[in-house]
Amino acid sequence: MEITSAAFQQFLNQKKLMGSKCKKCGAVHLPPRPLCPECGATEVEWTSLSGKGKLAAFTTIHVGTTLMAQAGYDRKNPYCSGIVQLAEGPKVSARILNVDAQNPQGIKVGTPLTVDFVEQGQGDNKKSYLAFKA
Ligand SMILES: [Zn+2]
Repeated sequence: MEITSAAFQQFLNQKKLMGSKCKKCGAVHLPPRPLCPECGATEVEWTSLSGKGKLAAFTTIHVGTTLMAQAGYDRKNPYCSGIVQLAEGPKVSARILNVDAQNPQGIKVGTPLTVDFVEQGQGDNKKSYLAFKA
């Protein structure tokens, strides 16, 4: 299957975490890239990722997107967004679950995380978003 953001989204909807792997230099990317940014090769294939990683950086968000507001997040109920360093190497930004976003001083960089998928939206607009849980 061609490496596109639509195909990546389809995998997410199936609760599969797929990245791209360069056939030439072996670099792994998430979100997947049809062209390897390391060596410029276009021989890139899908690779299944373990979904294990650790928290590299994070921020708590008090005023989010309309979608997040509809999901019940606001100033009084913030959520956590972070950068996750995957076991396979790439870093990806995602929502971080099972942490107390109201007490960010209790959230530690280096916390082990596993992949999760959050469904949001209704009907045809329903789709899965990448998240990680502590
Ligand atoms: Zn490469």
